[in-house]
Amino acid sequence: MELNEKQQTLLRMLPGIDHILELSKAEPSFEYVPKSVLVQSARRVVENFRAAILDENKSIEEKDLADLSVFEKIKETVKKAMTPNLMRTINATGVVVHTNLGRSVLASCAAENLLAIATGYSNLEFDLSKGERGSRYSCVAELLCEISGAEAAMVVNNNAGAVLLCLETIARNRKVIVSRGELVEIGGSFRIPDVMAKSGSILKEVGTTNRTHLKDYMAAIDNDTGLLLKVHASNYCVVGFTASVTLKELVELGSKYRIPVMEDLGSGTFIDFSKYGLSKEPTVQESVSAGADVVTFSGDKLLGGPQAGIIVGKKDVLDSIKKNPITRALRIDKLTLAALESTLRLYRNPEKAVHLIPTLRMLTIPIELIKKRADKLYKLLSKINNPALSITLADRCSKAGGGSLPLLDLPSRCIAVKIEGVSANSLERKMRENMPPVIGRIEDDYFLMDLRTVQEEELSAIKNALNNVLNRNQ
Ligand SMILES: *Cc1c(COP(=O)(O)O)cnc(C)c1O
Repeated sequence: MELNEKQQTLLRMLPGIDHILELSKAEPSFEYVPKSVLVQSARRVVENFRAAILDENKSIEEKDLADLSVFEKIKETVKKAMTPNLMRTINATGVVVHTNLGRSVLASCAAENLLAIATGYSNLEFDLSKGERGSRYSCVAELLCEISGAEAAMVVNNNAGAVLLCLETIARNRKVIVSRGELVEIGGSFRIPDVMAKSGSILKEVGTTNRTHLKDYMAAIDNDTGLLLKVHASNYCVVGFTASVTLKELVELGSKYRIPVMEDLGSGTFIDFSKYGLSKEPTVQESVSAGADVVTFSGDKLLGGPQAGIIVGKKDVLDSIKKNPITRALRIDKLTLAALESTLRLYRNPEKAVHLIPTLRMLTIPIELIKKRADKLYKLLSKINNPALSITLADRCSKAGGGSLPLLDLPSRCIAVKIEGVSANSLERKMRENMPPVIGRIEDDYFLMDLRTVQEEELSAIKNALNNVLNRNQ
């Protein structure tokens, strides 16, 4: 390619890496920046300028290559490189249990306990009363039994792991009977039939998508049957002409044929949501008292704790699960345990738990409080003095998320933002790429932020983000 004169001049102007490193010595914010990061950032910026000079569609001027402007770019690149990739993000989607945004926000006591355990040694596997090796699960097992009414409990890394572990222990090389209406797929490619195959158990589907009867289970039982499994259809609903078998009926059938019964609750909750005007989700206590041998559920969905797979049930079944070597591969981490124990303790007082556990608080928050928060943000954003910016309040609905309460629309209030000359797509991207990122959604030509999932102390950060977008737009 033939270079024109301007391009040749500009290329000659590009600073050398040594020159940039020399300039960097005087930059106070670079004091703790490793040299490798500096060199890499400098190379990247210079390379980008070189590509821009050679690109006919980009108009680079001499002033763009002045030391000061190049250095500004390098500072920006270095700052990005020095910021952790996993970062605090503002959830303005209105989806409370948002799997992509980390599902549940921990209660403050859970976060405090996590920090305390993280920064010191602990009695993780040490029995302080006996002075000898103890069990990793002991800190939560009793609590789980107390809250759920189960005989025994244990915890693993996540619920997918819990389901795999239970199936492998109870029904390896044996048939597991499941209703066709319950062969769920949840996000992240967790499918009941696939997990079952990996556990070495054999899927025996019964009934139809919309209707399964007790006689279907009964007809499928033979000498090879190892388990009757019920899976909570957490993220979808079968409506209309439907029939399903209750857990209690399955338990009766199981005891008649001496076959264990397991329920995968998916989300799992200790709180009866119908008391708070939300739709009914089966509670863990109900599954336990219906007599299931094993019940599995997530720690970070409706429970509002850290990622974990919780298993409660009959002592003999739990004993054999604990002996399965796979348990070691699915082992729960001590930081998770610390957060989980604190979260579970809150459930001893359910009315308080609803206020102290953010997931529950956001799900049950009265609309008046959301409106108040929306007004507060509206006022804050109104102070931005920019004629291109228009903001309005909008009544919309939020979702529980996390594959729970799929039909439930929670009335909420949003702030809708539009910036003249900026498309909604571009606004959404710029808010997303802000530090901290603000995640909302697009509706028509507006960028929408749902205040249900935004915390009070995040409001000013949203204003700053919008200011950043407006300033960069000039
Ligand atoms: C979410 C869910 C799982 C998986 O739980 P994770 O905690 O995400 O591993 C399993 N089964 C059902 C029915 C679920 O809803």
